[in-house]
Amino acid sequence: MKNKLLLILCAICFWNTSQSQISELRQGNFYTVAQGKVKLTEFASTYKDQNSWTKRTEQIRATIRHGAKLEDLPQRCALNPIRNNKHTYADYTVENVAFESLPGFYVTGNLYLPKNFNGKIAGVVSPHGHWPNLADYGRYRNDVQYRCATLAKMGAAVFTYDMLGYGESIPCLHESPEAVRLQTWNSMRVVDFLLSLGFVDEKRLAVTGESGGGTQSFLLAALDDRIDVSVPVVMVAANFFGGCVCESGMPIHKWGNFETNNLEIAATFAPKPMLVISDGDDWTSNTPEIEFPHLRSIYKLFGAESNVENTHLPYEVHDYGFNKRTAMYKFLAKHLDLNLKSVTDSHGLINERFTYLLERPSLQVWPDKNYPKGIVSDCSDVIKKMNNSK
Ligand SMILES: [Zn+2]
Repeated sequence: MKNKLLLILCAICFWNTSQSQISELRQGNFYTVAQGKVKLTEFASTYKDQNSWTKRTEQIRATIRHGAKLEDLPQRCALNPIRNNKHTYADYTVENVAFESLPGFYVTGNLYLPKNFNGKIAGVVSPHGHWPNLADYGRYRNDVQYRCATLAKMGAAVFTYDMLGYGESIPCLHESPEAVRLQTWNSMRVVDFLLSLGFVDEKRLAVTGESGGGTQSFLLAALDDRIDVSVPVVMVAANFFGGCVCESGMPIHKWGNFETNNLEIAATFAPKPMLVISDGDDWTSNTPEIEFPHLRSIYKLFGAESNVENTHLPYEVHDYGFNKRTAMYKFLAKHLDLNLKSVTDSHGLINERFTYLLERPSLQVWPDKNYPKGIVSDCSDVIKKMNNSK
């Protein structure tokens, strides 16, 4: 009887816990556009100057860290990078890379470098969004190859990498309950990897990605102060919180009575240079009227309005298409001191046609699945390493 009562109490306790966690989650279209706008006004009533906004950014970051279980970061283990199958072209090189973000847990991607360079060069972290169709997939998509090759020709070291559970990222499923935590940690380790190369300038580090890669971009920019320039694409919104478990499956927007949204998370980057790219066909369609003026008002607190820009393409859709890439190239050229002329034709247009589009096996570190000894094969072991390596 006593055991039965205990079981019932435990069940109630578990139910309460899980219900309270669920109520903290802000996912997808949690608010209407009008409600999102009202929330921005509510948030803005809590600060009036640089100091009070800075205090709010501390609460925003604390909420993300608490919700994503990133309050105590794991030890930064040796990266032990594996680099293979380097392709050398006239303007750039691309090679396949894996490194350990935790012992035996690998980040997999491609490193694009300028063909010739001297001294320190800028670095760009390049996460991708949710394109799961195998014929048009993740970091292997043409638009990812174009943007990485073009930035490399302009003079940057660029690293693009699989989302959790995408491509060669094993052993966790993309929908892992702690995907936000693991993906954000992997992004931080990408910064470590770029700096470990020895020729990447720590004062010229950018992040840019689209859709779910936009979420990864503003989370990294908020939590890792080594990022100097941020270009989140088709993602920043006041009412939409990300539709995937890897974006909002952990309570990073609410902790107790404190609440925030993706626009404020992006705004924690102020006064550093940020370009927000939006379109007319998704949750960023109201950016010129709602999100951008709010963002600009926060930059104004620092006297840094000129550091934040919005490129809005009302007749375009949810992607990282040519016009969006063009806006990003110009912004990064300005703030990272890259060579825009090297990719500009005689008519003043960006020319990406020098890019060699590679098939998926050519961009894989382990196309034959010859994984290294010691690679972790169970996601629960990855979580244990996140928990235990503090
Ligand atoms: Zn996802």
